[in-house]
Parts: sequence; structure tokens; C-alpha cells
Amino acid sequence: MGQAVSDWAASAGEALREGGYRRGGARRAVVELLADQHCCLTAQEIHDRLRATRRGVGIASVYRVLEQLVQLELVQRVEIGDGMTRYEPVHPDGVHHHHHVVCDDCGKVEAFSDDALERAIDSTAGRLGYEARHEVVLHGACADCRS
Ligand SMILES: [Zn+2]
Ligand SMILES: [Zn+2]
Repeated sequence: MGQAVSDWAASAGEALREGGYRRGGARRAVVELLADQHCCLTAQEIHDRLRATRRGVGIASVYRVLEQLVQLELVQRVEIGDGMTRYEPVHPDGVHHHHHVVCDDCGKVEAFSDDALERAIDSTAGRLGYEARHEVVLHGACADCRS
């Protein structure tokens, strides 16, 4: 677990406490799982991974905790156009900010980041007079699917 990762878990725990959410096993399990993630997972994947580590948390509880974390801006929803909502931790100051590339054949989702892309988006937003958030999703066929 890297420093930024454990910081996220600590600030998530603090924000949940300040938000008046009681400590609970489900909440802690979801936060600890997400703290190890640099990219996005569906609620079902989170549920399956928790079950695999013998920390069974009902799918309804997984959704409820995720929605609380989204409300507190600790987690963001990621929509890649396949009708499934994915969730990933949001790190303060944009650390680990990244985008997604999706293989439309096998469904693989990968993360990428690109400084030149960030600068281009920022300067475009500035020219438009906006202070803007952004999401970028590339769609295509991955190297494995094309071979
Ligand atoms: Zn991601
Ligand atoms: Zn970006």
C-alpha cells in the first residue's frame, strides 16, 4: 500500500465520520478494498472480491456505501458506455488522475494518463472561459482482439 493510497483510506474514514456515518464492517471493507485500486470496478466486482477475501458484504450494502462515498466526493462514477456504472477512488489534488480506454470486443478497461492531453484540455477549457472537470474514454479493439 503506497502513501497516497493509505492517505485516501484515512481521509475517507474521516469524511465518513464527519458525515455522521457510523463505523460499520461493510463501510470499512469497501473503503479498504477501494484504497488498493487505481482504477475502476463495478459494484458486482467489489462484491465478488470482498467475498473472495471472506469479507462477505451484501450487494445492497456495497451500493449504499458507494453512493455515500460518491456524495462525499471520495469516489467517482465512471461510465464507459456499456451500461454498467464503475467506481474508483478520487485522490486529493488530482493525484492518480487518469482516463480509460475500452476494448469493445473483450470488454477490457485500462487506465492511461497523458500530460499533453491534460494541457490541451485545460487550455481549451480556459479559452471557453470554463473551470471544467473532464472525462475521456477511448473506444476500440485491443491488440489481443486484433491478432
Ligand atoms: Zn480508472
Ligand atoms: Zn484528464
